Amino acid sequence: MLCLTAPEAGVRVSDMEYEPVIGLETHAELLTESKLWCRCSTRFGEPPNTQTCPICLGMPGVLPVLNERAFELALRAALALNCAINRPTFFDRKNYYYPDLPKNYQVSQNYCNLGEDGWIEIPVDAELRRVGIHNVHLEEDAGKNLHAQHGGAHYSLVDLNRAGTPLLEIVTRPEMHSVAEADAFMHTLRRLLLYAGVSDCKMQEGSLRFEASVSMRPAGSDGLGTRVEVKNLNSIKAVRGALEYEIERQTRRLREGRPVEMETRLWDAERGRSAVMRTKEEAQDYRYFPEPDLLPVEISDRELARVRASVPEMPVLRRSRFERDYGLSEYNASVLTDSKQVADYFEACVAAYDSPGSVANWIMNEALALTNRRGIGIAEFEISPERLAGLVRLLNEGRINARVARDIMHKMIDTGKDAPTLVREEGAEQVSDRSALDPVIQQVIEENPQPVQDYLAGSKKAVGALVGQVMRLSRGKADPKLAGQMLRQKLDRMQ
Ligand code: ADP
Ligand code: MG
Ligand code: ZN
Repeated sequence: MLCLTAPEAGVRVSDMEYEPVIGLETHAELLTESKLWCRCSTRFGEPPNTQTCPICLGMPGVLPVLNERAFELALRAALALNCAINRPTFFDRKNYYYPDLPKNYQVSQNYCNLGEDGWIEIPVDAELRRVGIHNVHLEEDAGKNLHAQHGGAHYSLVDLNRAGTPLLEIVTRPEMHSVAEADAFMHTLRRLLLYAGVSDCKMQEGSLRFEASVSMRPAGSDGLGTRVEVKNLNSIKAVRGALEYEIERQTRRLREGRPVEMETRLWDAERGRSAVMRTKEEAQDYRYFPEPDLLPVEISDRELARVRASVPEMPVLRRSRFERDYGLSEYNASVLTDSKQVADYFEACVAAYDSPGSVANWIMNEALALTNRRGIGIAEFEISPERLAGLVRLLNEGRINARVARDIMHKMIDTGKDAPTLVREEGAEQVSDRSALDPVIQQVIEENPQPVQDYLAGSKKAVGALVGQVMRLSRGKADPKLAGQMLRQKLDRMQ
């Protein structure tokens, strides 16, 4: 191995190549109205400690009752992630003390997770790569500590509104090898959870959080190095930052001949660095044991089949189907399948009017531009897919031109009327019959000697100015293509 002298005296630095090994643990709050063991609301942003009861406050003597909806969503996620389902599955107590955990234990799963041995396909370098899912399990969220600074006093407040919120944990195998792969995994998983309707995945509200494990190994080898776990990652950006930092830190240590310590670190997004939270010696023993207050959960064949049938087609598959069946470009297919709502909207449009290419253009360039600007989802868009399809049909059949179509789209939103009605009422039908256009063309040629002369002198693009005049005179209703054609014919004859 080639060794160089490091800047610091006495430290030897090698130029050995290392590659990162990354595993991610993802926590997603499930989309339920109420908590996992009680009927308290899970709504975000309510005044502190207003959504609590003796059960989620951890009072002695209370008994939890499993939220069926939460279990079903967790099962749907496990199936969407191609996991084998443990039947029955059961819950375990994970014992630890923390002020936002009034019971001093978290009900989670350890010995018999709901799902295990799954996988997810993520796009890497224009191909799909499988990342193994070690397990998927259901657990309860803790409350929140708020660290206040008030009048020179430093103290913490505890808000237990979140305590007992159903949380899904998804643990990957250590099978990712770059920040880009981890990034693709997080985006793909987020989209999958949104598609499956199991979580709203709002990172700014803490609905989706990550923990990352990283180790380094000599490039090309297949052993596993000592791992460091980084916690407190509340966004995809934070995970990227923490991984980049950790990969660099570990590589530097290894090159200097110093071992990587097994430890848990906390990411500080503001400072862009992590700090040790606990080392191997302080590693916690959670003393897991089966939760005595809850029975194992049996899942019948019928129930399993029903939930399996509720797993929607996954975005990656839907995207390739859109390319194949509708002849869309890769880019258009990926924009249209980015959210399930948009993909559903597109397919409903195509069912009403079988012209996928132009429907795709109209959704992407007009409908989405409009809804994005207004900050609403396509599901809240006033124009139904059937009506948008009706508008595109009028455009494709040459009954209105694109400018008028755009105008009609805005009027559809304002009036709630459909496109054919508005076109009729406004007399907006495109003039595409030659005899109707002829006098207008004649008038434009007579009134615009300069562009006419330019055209005759060889400047073919001068015809554009004349088309503009035809559009103006026809109040936007002329068929611009036909107008251009007729102008050229007439002018060529004048030569
Ligand atoms: P624990 O049970 O102690 O939390 P796990 O084996 O369940 O540890 O792994 C937790 C996470 O750490 C998983 O996402 C896994 O992929 C990842 N991981 C495990 N070993 C390594 C390693 N050597 N390098 C990187 N990541 C690892
Ligand atoms: Mg773990
Ligand atoms: Zn409660």
